Amino acid sequence: MEQTLAIIKPDGVSRGLIGEVIIRIERNKLKIKAMKLIQMSKTQAQGFYAVHRERPFFQSLTDFMCSGPVVVMVLEGENAIKPWRDMMGATNYKDAAEGTIRRDFATDIEKNVVHGSDAPETAAFETGYFFNALERV
Ligand code: ATP
Ligand code: MG
Repeated sequence: MEQTLAIIKPDGVSRGLIGEVIIRIERNKLKIKAMKLIQMSKTQAQGFYAVHRERPFFQSLTDFMCSGPVVVMVLEGENAIKPWRDMMGATNYKDAAEGTIRRDFATDIEKNVVHGSDAPETAAFETGYFFNALERV
């Protein structure tokens, strides 16, 4: 079993897409092991995206990610990282495959509704960033 971090980003929450995303997660047989609604501070968003600190979009991305509430979740399943990323679709919604969350709902390369960890090491860092052992079932 593998775990991954999923985030419903501020655009997804403000547009009323929490239920839509969770339905897709459950239909795809990923188990939700932890979940909460939070609003990050700028510092917390910068810490979360520290791997991207040299990227030109870092400032804008971290502003966006703390602009409103987000839903953070730990998902578990067999190789959970890949199926969740497959469900999300490509970073740029214009390149995302049909039936993916980003293809169906994203409006912008930055405001792309959801986040997913990209490797086991980042998943361990990212799930630990938001949840301690007592907050996971
Ligand atoms: P995420 O990490 O959110 O799951 P990802 O792995 O598909 O998405 P990354 O390359 O890790 O994409 O970029 C992290 C996030 O930064 C993207 O989801 C998007 O919100 C934003 N982003 C990525 N590339 C750009 C860009 N060229 N311009 C603006 N924002 C971008
Ligand atoms: Mg990423």
